[in-house]
Amino acid sequence: MKAVRFHEFGGPSVLQIDDIDEPTCKPNEVKIKIIASGINHLDIWVRKGLPWINFPWILGSDGSGIIHEIGSNVSKWIVGDEVVVHPGYSCGNCKYCNNKNENYCSNYGIMGESCHGLQQEYICVNPKQIIRKPSCLTFYEASSMPLVFMTSWQMLVERAKLKKDEWVLIYGGTSGVGAAAIQISRYIQANIITTVGSEEKINFTKSLGADFVINHSNPRWINEVKSINRKFDVIFEHVGKATWEKSISLLGKGGRIVTCGATSGYEVNLDLRHLFFKQQSILGSTMSNFNNFNLVMHKIKNGIFKPFIDSVFSIEDVAIAHQKIENREHIGKVVLSFDK
Ligand code: ZN
Repeated sequence: MKAVRFHEFGGPSVLQIDDIDEPTCKPNEVKIKIIASGINHLDIWVRKGLPWINFPWILGSDGSGIIHEIGSNVSKWIVGDEVVVHPGYSCGNCKYCNNKNENYCSNYGIMGESCHGLQQEYICVNPKQIIRKPSCLTFYEASSMPLVFMTSWQMLVERAKLKKDEWVLIYGGTSGVGAAAIQISRYIQANIITTVGSEEKINFTKSLGADFVINHSNPRWINEVKSINRKFDVIFEHVGKATWEKSISLLGKGGRIVTCGATSGYEVNLDLRHLFFKQQSILGSTMSNFNNFNLVMHKIKNGIFKPFIDSVFSIEDVAIAHQKIENREHIGKVVLSFDK
């Protein structure tokens, strides 16, 4: 079977399609024929180099497909069921897992980052990790949503507790997590300002529900933000060093900065006097537990959150797909197809 792998770290050219053995389905697993796999920025981080990666490595954290085989101990599913895979997994037997906070588990991992990923024709997983594919979505759409929506839901709802009528600043409104965050904030009925990197991305973020869109390629973008709102209740961070000081300066009393990443650098300064006097909170966040994944997928099934696909590439063109993302030429999610 085919798999998207790399044998060394580097640019998109290190990606190749390898012919590897099909996995064997164990009694407690289901075997899925993967149809589509959404690419996340995480794929690019992994490809560029993470210390624990062993070569050759299979990429991919998001995927959808059809159940191909059922392990002898699995009863809930049947061959032919259309499913979406949860990118996270945990030990299932620690205090966090027992309290349904799987994403706090010491053994929590993300497929494609902490173990081989979903960009292979067949994969065997624990049935806890699958959910029925919403029938309103294509396989491409269904594989583009789990990671970014569960991450953004955890950040805004579980951690920052964003409320109706509050002001939220979302960096990178056309990024996967940014576009999901706009839809979730619209659902909560918050006031949304988002930033984008070019004029042609403005209409897209408005169509998702942003109230105001600022082009951050303008060096005076922060003044534009301040002309609309000076003190935010929640700042949705995934940029890190490049935006940190501005984020702090825009955070109001009782404000919460919630962060899931640090693409521009992870060491930042903090004036503790502002933090305690203004009673602000800095919140870290990663992925979500299984309950919130199911809850988000339920809202997707009911059409509350919508897919936003830029393009679909056949797996043979995976390097072109990665290059497009790195060049920031995409507006929405880029998806790999295994049946194209
Ligand atoms: Zn655990």
